[in-house]
Amino acid sequence: MNWLILCQLSKIFMIPDTLMDFKSKYGAGRAIAAPQIGVMKRIIYMYIDKPVVCINPEWEISNHEKMEVWDDCMSFPDLLVKVERYKACTMQYRDRDWEKKVIQATGDLSELLQHEYDHLDGILATSRAVDDHSFALRSQKHGKGNYE
Ligand SMILES: [Zn+2]
Repeated sequence: MNWLILCQLSKIFMIPDTLMDFKSKYGAGRAIAAPQIGVMKRIIYMYIDKPVVCINPEWEISNHEKMEVWDDCMSFPDLLVKVERYKACTMQYRDRDWEKKVIQATGDLSELLQHEYDHLDGILATSRAVDDHSFALRSQKHGKGNYE
């Protein structure tokens, strides 16, 4: 195995630690996508009630109704961005054991999946801002974040 592959693999194993470090620093953090720590793999790691590793996820809109949310992100913890997300979506993926899994999500979880999936394509919430008034500092909103 060459050094670069070894490095990539070891960074994959850093994903859960990175999320947990962020959680202990900011008191929140539900998920992280591999590209956020420089690993160019289609992997999302979520920790809501339990750890979930989503490999090669694909998502579909299950309801075309949209919602506006103030989105936050571990990549820019002090900034909130108002974005539009679909209210419901379905995500298929492979888990750690390469089993096929499906998540049907609505509301907060639907928003989270769309946010994380965007990271896999190099899209940040900042490029989905609804309009010129869609940026705020967390200190202006006083909200405690979920961080994605
Ligand atoms: Zn994010």
